[in-house]
Amino acid sequence: MAPNRYTGRFAPSPTGPLHLGSLVTAVASFLDARAHQGRWLLRIEDIDPLREVPGAADLIVRQLAAHSLEWDGPICYQSRRGALYRDALARLADAGLLYACSCSRQRLHALGGRYDGACRARRDSLHNSAPAGALRICADGDGADTLRDFIQGRAFGAPCAGGDFIVLRRDGLVAYQLATAVDDAEQGITHVLRGADLFDSTPRQCYLLARLRLSPPDYGHVPLVLGTDGHKLSKQNLAPALVATDATANLHWALRWLGLDPPGELMTGKPADLLAWGTRHWSRDKIATQPRQVQKTPNRNPGKKKSV
Ligand code: GLU
Repeated sequence: MAPNRYTGRFAPSPTGPLHLGSLVTAVASFLDARAHQGRWLLRIEDIDPLREVPGAADLIVRQLAAHSLEWDGPICYQSRRGALYRDALARLADAGLLYACSCSRQRLHALGGRYDGACRARRDSLHNSAPAGALRICADGDGADTLRDFIQGRAFGAPCAGGDFIVLRRDGLVAYQLATAVDDAEQGITHVLRGADLFDSTPRQCYLLARLRLSPPDYGHVPLVLGTDGHKLSKQNLAPALVATDATANLHWALRWLGLDPPGELMTGKPADLLAWGTRHWSRDKIATQPRQVQKTPNRNPGKKKSV
């Protein structure tokens, strides 16, 4: 593989089945990769057993296959990569950047989202004992200040906007920011295309990569698909799961959502034909930059639903 060949990824957490909102993200990152003759990897972000729904990882894999969203190479499971994350944590600790934070939930709540660094004074005690509480990283200085989102054109903010952030949770689980940043670098991801709800995570991930002396990918964020209640469609608000018999209609809908105008006759074709058309007509410039509410869902197949 050429060192800088476009490599994209889709990285769902197995907290429930895929829905229209996650399909838009998967299709956008798939088409952007394929339109650049790139690879597209699948990473299951199953590092949080407390939020995981049993069977969701396998269901997501089947849903992607039913929509002909074919990934390259083996599926990466974060639950099997603990050694990589521990190594990254050790390097950050050796650089004197980590400290244990034992602030109570009430105190953190009262701070209103920006951590004030109260436990920083305990920075030196880390080497002598197992951390009591979560591990935070000192988030001063540079990060993604000069980087721009390749979909939205906006610059990312400073990494420390929310203060020092958590890299290892108090329950011993690796934090999303660390695992994702490490995996994007380790998997050679050149382009991250994901939902706009993760825009604010980007400076923190870039900051971690800079501290680990790893290069950041380019980041682009697609606007969120909002339900009729104005909230992000999500597994948490029980957005309907994608079903295999609606795959063509779902993809047609997702392409339109992303600003493309696929011909009506493809509505009766195979999912792969729609994706091939989408790859040929893909344009980042056509993606709207504001979140929008779903007005009309795909014309669902009235026949028997085939679950995947
Ligand atoms: N696992 C995250 C999610 O399902 C996405 C992570 C990412 O794309 O960086 O929301």
